[in-house]
Amino acid sequence: MSRKQFVAGNWKMNLNNASAVKLAEGLVAKLAGNAKVDVAVCPPFPYLAAVGKALAGSKIALGAQDMFYEEDGAYTGEVSAAMLKDVGCTYVILGHSERRHVIGETDELINRKQLKAIAAGLLPIFCVGELLAERQAEETTEVVSRQVRLGLEGVSAADARKVTVAYEPVWAIGTGVVATVQQAQEVHKMIRQLLAEMYDSATAQAMRIQYGGSVKASNAAELLACEDIDGALVGGASLKVDEFAGIIAGAR
Ligand code: PEP
Repeated sequence: MSRKQFVAGNWKMNLNNASAVKLAEGLVAKLAGNAKVDVAVCPPFPYLAAVGKALAGSKIALGAQDMFYEEDGAYTGEVSAAMLKDVGCTYVILGHSERRHVIGETDELINRKQLKAIAAGLLPIFCVGELLAERQAEETTEVVSRQVRLGLEGVSAADARKVTVAYEPVWAIGTGVVATVQQAQEVHKMIRQLLAEMYDSATAQAMRIQYGGSVKASNAAELLACEDIDGALVGGASLKVDEFAGIIAGAR
């Protein structure tokens, strides 16, 4: 298995222009020697250009936190895939739990975004994950499988390799409650088996599956040591240079 691990920072709706640039500069200085792990940061839309400038010449890639599926036109407040490419984005987070559960995004909407992102040359970080009540009702496999299947509908095997799946149990996001290594590995393995069924085993083995949910420097190494965990999508801890660098240092 030779998947390169991938750690992405989701800055959510935090920071301002100056502090976003400072964080990016701090990461560039701290991570200059990192080649073993792919790294990306996903600032809020208004700071993409300034952060992209601060990252220029470094190995840290730029990502966005969402996008809309239409090409252009009368979609007030939305941002297109082409705009994200234009401003230097490589990645785009799609289907984050805060968009599913706070904004109300459906699997169908997320799928439309996925197809458009891939067609536009962006690499999706496609989030899935169950609510606490769903885990307690032993519906995790059913919920996550449905999200994976519907989110990737119409995506070819060749294009699926461009997608990073991020398994983020909703009860672990921003709560300080991290899934146990066993809980995380179990779902990651299930997702990979599902991808093998949907596509083929070579595609499933090539696809990266990140874990997300209260990852920090102190718990990253044990999660990232798991066979089917290929990196992390990090919220809160990605806002601090040392914490984020500590997570990256924990990658295998
Ligand atoms: C996230 O935003 O995807 C996330 C996992 O947040 P946190 O690390 O803060 O739990």
